[in-house]
Amino acid sequence: MAVLLSGAEVVNSMKEELSRRVVKLGEEGKIPCLGIVRIGERPDDLAYERSAMKRVQGLGLECKVFSYPESVSSGDFVSDFEKINADTNVHGILVLRPLPKHIDEEIIKNIIDPEKDIDCMSHVNTSKVFAADGTGYAPCTPRAVIEMFRHFNIPLKGKRVTVVGRSMVVGKPLSMLLLKENATVTICHTKTEDLEAECKKAEILIAAAGVPKMIKESYVSKGAVVIDVGINVDDKGNLCGDVDFESVEPAAGFITPVPGGVGTVTASVLAMHTITACERRNKHGE
Ligand code: NDP
Repeated sequence: MAVLLSGAEVVNSMKEELSRRVVKLGEEGKIPCLGIVRIGERPDDLAYERSAMKRVQGLGLECKVFSYPESVSSGDFVSDFEKINADTNVHGILVLRPLPKHIDEEIIKNIIDPEKDIDCMSHVNTSKVFAADGTGYAPCTPRAVIEMFRHFNIPLKGKRVTVVGRSMVVGKPLSMLLLKENATVTICHTKTEDLEAECKKAEILIAAAGVPKMIKESYVSKGAVVIDVGINVDDKGNLCGDVDFESVEPAAGFITPVPGGVGTVTASVLAMHTITACERRNKHGE
């Protein structure tokens, strides 16, 4: 039976450290503030917004939501975004994506202040993550995976890690963070030949493909660490990951559940990055 890697446990341990940093900033008259930018009312965005808000406010941060109707023009949105970007009371900005088609995401990627870009939209932070420069903000979910390894003392150095998925939101940046930790990383995707064999080679298998329950027992070597980043809905309407938990759990050594795994930690990373952004501004006397 695998050891369950619970996201709540990681969240609780991060809470102590993050609360201490918020109190210290408070003593200096600063309250870290996360600005959430949302266009439209997609249920996924609203759910993420609610949980992010609850987590950051629970840690003593402020959270401001800047919401726009789906019909907002590109010009109006960009000019408003520039104001949020320049607002010294907002330390971190989370833009809920994907943006509607008529808003060019590239424009926002180019104008967002890299110091406020706490979920790695900008080219500056993306380059830093790929260059193993720790001053860049990685996307929150890949960072959440690294926080899980740290919390549970799972070593990465020299380990064979397979990541299924190569998106710029999860798979690629996560692979770069793992490489920075000296793991030996294999990145798989839809054109990978014999995915099952590539997965089975891994001491640590990370699923980030967005395909419900695609990782079966036959993909997992005995005792492997299995991290499930996927958040999907199965054919019965229930939340599930990319890993077929029932079949994989008996073979794995460690496994994350969905829900209650990586996704739970993501909101704490949002708070962590916003606190860091506030601390950096404070250091510069802003
Ligand atoms: P994308 O759809 O952008 O990317 C999916 C990646 O997986 C692609 O690189 C794709 O390959 C690969 N892939 C898809 N199907 C297969 C397959 N059958 N075999 C091998 N590779 C495959 O998804 P995201 O990266 O945005 O998200 C991945 C999952 O993570 C989703 O379930 C999403 O909901 C979840 N997620 C969870 C978060 C959290 O907080 N826990 C946050 C963000 C995402 P190719 O490039 O060849 O198309």
